[in-house]
Amino acid sequence: MIDCALPDQSDHVSCSLPSALFLNEVAVADPEGRSVVMVVEDEESYQDALNIGLTVEGFVVVAASTITQAREVMSNFKPDLVLLDVMLPDGSGIDYCREIYDTSRIPVIMVSARTSEVDVVLGLEIGAADYVTKPYRLRELVARMRAVLRRPVTNTDDEIITFGDLRIDFIRRTVTRRGIEIELSRKEFDLLALFASRLGQVVTREVCLDTLWWGLELSDTRTLDTHVKRLRQKIEDDPGNPGHLITIRGVGFRLDA
Ligand code: CA
Repeated sequence: MIDCALPDQSDHVSCSLPSALFLNEVAVADPEGRSVVMVVEDEESYQDALNIGLTVEGFVVVAASTITQAREVMSNFKPDLVLLDVMLPDGSGIDYCREIYDTSRIPVIMVSARTSEVDVVLGLEIGAADYVTKPYRLRELVARMRAVLRRPVTNTDDEIITFGDLRIDFIRRTVTRRGIEIELSRKEFDLLALFASRLGQVVTREVCLDTLWWGLELSDTRTLDTHVKRLRQKIEDDPGNPGHLITIRGVGFRLDA
């Protein structure tokens, strides 16, 4: 295992990397089953270190140094994971993370020189799967990447699931009930999507917490119950006596059609 400390450099706005390194070589998912990671990073020193280090660690690396290049990569194929710098020459990584999250199910790890708690919370709130700050060690980054890749998939391969009077559109991230769109918060949608992806199966509280709150230490897991309660108020005829979203006492929840 390589464990090089990556350089500590402030963000700058130069762009010297060629467009999407390796792009033409990785038109489809890696045949050897390696995870494909798109590294969106404009600092050459980081990009070089990551290309080498992550390849040694068994990842296929696709590089982009701007958001424009990243969009180009994404239009050709879907990586398994995105490593996304916050400060990029042509925009904010935070905004681009939101864009990825709104249009795909690909997990994003945000990378930033900033260390303030506010940035961490913002990054996670917009959907980032995890967050690292520069300078970081490759060993730590790889451990986080593998942890993210091990997480349960939130969605199914279906773009739309219909059951009872509900219709869930995973691409547009909308839910309609009897044809009328229901307003769900991001977390409420993610929770419903998680349950819907395992329709008729029990989803444990641990899986809910790991998937939606990324295993962060939640001192109060009543947060989950609060979200379930709000969800019931929006999708159930009788939220106090739910017909779809059933509590399995001491275990978790099950969404029935
Ligand atoms: Ca940068």
